[in-house]
Amino acid sequence: MSFRLLFLLAIAWFAWLTLRRWLQGAQTQARNSAAGQTQRPPAGVKVVQCRYCSLYLPEPEAQRQNNEWFCCAEHAKLYLGKR
Ligand SMILES: [Zn+2]
Repeated sequence: MSFRLLFLLAIAWFAWLTLRRWLQGAQTQARNSAAGQTQRPPAGVKVVQCRYCSLYLPEPEAQRQNNEWFCCAEHAKLYLGKR
């Protein structure tokens, strides 16, 4: 008689796991599209381009070195180092 209850619990557990995995996937996707600033930069923020990898990113997140914009310190180092 408790078999049915167990069966229902198993289904609920499985549904919960699936839902959680689906939610995590959606979150990862949202984060990925947020990281891809190339398509739609936030309005009102000046967008600059990394001299090294040509990535577009909002000015507050960019780094400026030697009058050039970079997406990260690593690219600034690589670009300025290769000259
Ligand atoms: Zn870069």
